[in-house]
Amino acid sequence: MPDIIIVGAGPTGLWLALELRSAGLEVTVIEKNINRDIRSRAAAMAAGSLETFATRGIAQRFIDAGTPIHSIHYGSSESRLHMSRESLGTKHPHSLMIPQAVTEQLLVELCQEKGVEFFFGHLASGLVQDSNTVAVETETGDGTKSTFTASWLVGCDGTKSAIRKLANFEFPGTDGNISGWLADVLATDPPSQPLSVNNEYGSFLMQPLGYQKYYRLTGVSIGTMNLPPSAIPTLDNVKSFATEALGTDFGIHSPLWLSRFSNTTRLATNFRSGRVFIAGDAAHQFFPAGGQGITTGIQDAANLAWKLVAVAQRRLTGENADELLNTYSTERKLALQAIIKSTLAQTALYASSNSVQSALADVVYELIAHPDLNKLLVRRITGFGDPFPTKEGGQDPLVGARVTHLEVGGGFELLHSAMAVDTFILLVRDLNLEPLLSDCISPWAAYIKCLGPNDGIVSFGQQWEGVDAALVRPDARVVWVCRDSSPREHIHLSIRKLLEELCKEI
Ligand SMILES: Cc1cc2nc3c(=O)[nH]c(=O)nc-3n(C[C@H](O)[C@H](O)[C@H](O)COP(=O)(O)OP(=O)(O)OC[C@H]3O[C@@H](n4cnc5c(N)ncnc54)[C@H](O)[C@@H]3O)c2cc1C
Repeated sequence: MPDIIIVGAGPTGLWLALELRSAGLEVTVIEKNINRDIRSRAAAMAAGSLETFATRGIAQRFIDAGTPIHSIHYGSSESRLHMSRESLGTKHPHSLMIPQAVTEQLLVELCQEKGVEFFFGHLASGLVQDSNTVAVETETGDGTKSTFTASWLVGCDGTKSAIRKLANFEFPGTDGNISGWLADVLATDPPSQPLSVNNEYGSFLMQPLGYQKYYRLTGVSIGTMNLPPSAIPTLDNVKSFATEALGTDFGIHSPLWLSRFSNTTRLATNFRSGRVFIAGDAAHQFFPAGGQGITTGIQDAANLAWKLVAVAQRRLTGENADELLNTYSTERKLALQAIIKSTLAQTALYASSNSVQSALADVVYELIAHPDLNKLLVRRITGFGDPFPTKEGGQDPLVGARVTHLEVGGGFELLHSAMAVDTFILLVRDLNLEPLLSDCISPWAAYIKCLGPNDGIVSFGQQWEGVDAALVRPDARVVWVCRDSSPREHIHLSIRKLLEELCKEI
């Protein structure tokens, strides 16, 4: 019996499978499709995903297959958000234009190299769970039924998730009332830079698709924004949208895909029901503003993976295991509320159809050019700014942050090469603190890698000024911080209590 069944081989399910398998778990992936369609919804992968891939040493494979772009639109602001090593603190401060189908193909290959078992062409159609196992029933095209049983099951089966319905997850939200259009086309006279434009006709975006010589054109046009998603635009419609926006149609031709999508927005009330979890689009749906969908799903998977590993390896049992698994829902729901707010705000900016809304959009777009605001928004939209629950009594402002701006030892490689789905990292800058901390963590030594002055850590840089030591979870979130002002006598107690909750019972 596998440890985990994942339903859905989209980016979320595949990243989860890869993480779980990397820790040696038996993972089965069930996917209804047999072949992948190059007509991909996602064209851009945010820097937050590349950073996650870098912590597992695989970012370059994706970068080699796509086209990096160093700025990103917020709504359809002409002042774009700029990604830099300074603003994001990552080795790869750029989005990647890469069709979702290519991302998925690369992830499937990585999963297969690790030994994930795939069942393509199986539609999940039934689900039963008891206190020890969960079973999913599937059906193939020729009507053959099969049952797969495991300890845990994760539904990563997209917005129409069968698993979400079969396990009775609530999925409240609002139906779409605005739609955007999309066209993947060739162009005889393309722009030299990614474009975002906003005017009285609506919004218009154009950038390379990252697939052959195709361009992704998308936008919300005031004249057609109330059409349903079934009203697919024609090539001529798209030429008019482009001409309205910029006075040229860029010589677009040979469409690969024309589509329309809506702003339906929903968030599951809970991401766990007993032995069943949901992740990615199965747990949330929002307007694809700013290209945040893939990264959001990958962050869901990263958050859940190390917790499932800790529980499947029986490092935590009973109530402790339950509590850790429940934090997946609490933490990711909080992050999703912020992401949904961002996409709703951008939808309002895209679709400013009267003078009041246009004035607001103009003011917001003007403010985006301000460097501090630009930096704040770019961190949020690329997956570096997800909020984290606060504990009663407060906590260090760094707790919950993703480890960025930490070029320890003069580069990112030291940190990245130490990170793994079953490993916590203890970063220590103060030489005097090292023996005390080594002693504190000794019962958990198998799960914690300590990086200290002897590994080349002499400074944490400006953003981490005053930090003497920090504990980082496998999903790159800081969970414990010791500052130069922290009373040394409390260190022992605070880190031990935390490790018992997070890492292993002793
Ligand atoms: C027009 C548009 C443009 C977008 N552009 C971007 C972008 O540029 N960047 C970005 O990051 N995001 C973008 N997104 C969002 C992004 O596509 C999604 O957020 C992302 O695909 C979510 O991944 P997922 O793995 O959670 O779900 P999905 O990608 O939907 O994968 C679900 C998988 O489950 C399978 N499945 C479904 N039901 C079953 C079943 N019953 N049994 C077995 N298998 C099943 C499906 O075949 C599929 O393979 C866009 C979305 C749209 C609509």
